[in-house]
Amino acid sequence: HELEGSAAFTRSEAHTAHNYHPLPVVVANAEGAFMTDVDGRRYLDLLAGYSALNFGHSHPGLLRVAHEQLDKLTLTSRAFVHDQFADFTEGLAALCGKDSVLPMNTGAEAVETAIKVSRKWGYQVKGVPTDQAEIIVASGNFHGRTTTIVGFSDDPAAHDDFGPFAPGFVTVPYGDLAALEAAITPNTVAVLVEPIQGEGGVVIPPEGYLRGIRAACTRENVLFAADEIQAGLGRTGRTFACDHEDVVPDIYVLGKALGGGIVPVSAIVADNDVLGVLRPGQHGSTFGGNPLACAVGAEVVRMLATGDFQRRAAELGEMVRERLEGLVGHGVVGVRVRGLWAGVDIDPARGSGREICEALMERGVLAKDTHGSTIRLAPPLVVDADDLAWGLDQLAEVVAG
Ligand code: PLP
Repeated sequence: HELEGSAAFTRSEAHTAHNYHPLPVVVANAEGAFMTDVDGRRYLDLLAGYSALNFGHSHPGLLRVAHEQLDKLTLTSRAFVHDQFADFTEGLAALCGKDSVLPMNTGAEAVETAIKVSRKWGYQVKGVPTDQAEIIVASGNFHGRTTTIVGFSDDPAAHDDFGPFAPGFVTVPYGDLAALEAAITPNTVAVLVEPIQGEGGVVIPPEGYLRGIRAACTRENVLFAADEIQAGLGRTGRTFACDHEDVVPDIYVLGKALGGGIVPVSAIVADNDVLGVLRPGQHGSTFGGNPLACAVGAEVVRMLATGDFQRRAAELGEMVRERLEGLVGHGVVGVRVRGLWAGVDIDPARGSGREICEALMERGVLAKDTHGSTIRLAPPLVVDADDLAWGLDQLAEVVAG
């Protein structure tokens, strides 16, 4: 019985680069907050595709839209306009309170797009001398895997031996507003930060940090680009993590859940004084803004516009907070919770994050460690409260030893 799964796992690892270290489970299908492996074992999903599955697996509304669109039109390229484009861009712009959307596919591409647009804005609008643009980023960041982006990562695994890297980035400590303000020069075109650092371990900056960045950027004529790829779109109990400080960045950088866990959809969203710097031929993507992506993305936006998912994340998040705070001192040394998103620092005496995740897997719960001893919890926002409570019971028992 167990053999099928382990043989499938061995086979899956045999002819691939080992740039991941997956848990030894081979998933065959999934619905809502549960995944089922090739042997028929069910697992509660506490990762939700790094927040790409905020609406759960096989969401019926998203599947219906995707199936319908598959049968009609999947790709035109942006050389021609298609009939799904306006619904998506109009809806997403409205959700963000901005003028315009530039659609791409992956998160890293959206970040690259924000970098390019910020630089062009810097040269054409702010008047920064050619090739002198600086972008301020934060320590502990994770913005993706392209060569430009990993160049300003301070995670050795992400960064080392992938150079030479693009210049023009200045790193300041995350959460330190004074350091960020001090790093702004006349050539600074943008501040690029995650409003909560996801891969960093769900690191929530001190209250007032995002407001402070907003004020500094306005004062110094610098763009505030918020990477909401993992934090945004309902995860934290609000549409955007920036909403917790009533802050509106100049550029929203979005991805993951924007594609409903079905197709890769990312975008940057900004006003026309920013996005308007791009002219035909200066940026693009063969698949960016394709009909299938737009159909699914537009449905995601309609779902978020109801506010139901945000409310659910906030409500369930309170339960998670209460339960996790109760674990501190019982195998857990620290927790950070915002909405339905938590970083749990495991007492190293109880084992590594990886070991805890392996033990959870044995009990039918799938979670992912980050940075050695932290486990990030990000269940689909549609998870049933009782199922979530059961998952947290499993965690409590595993960390208690
Ligand atoms: N930005 C943030 C904040 C992320 O968490 C991620 C992925 O984890 C990315 C960017 C990169 O997204 P992708 O893996 O789709 O390129």
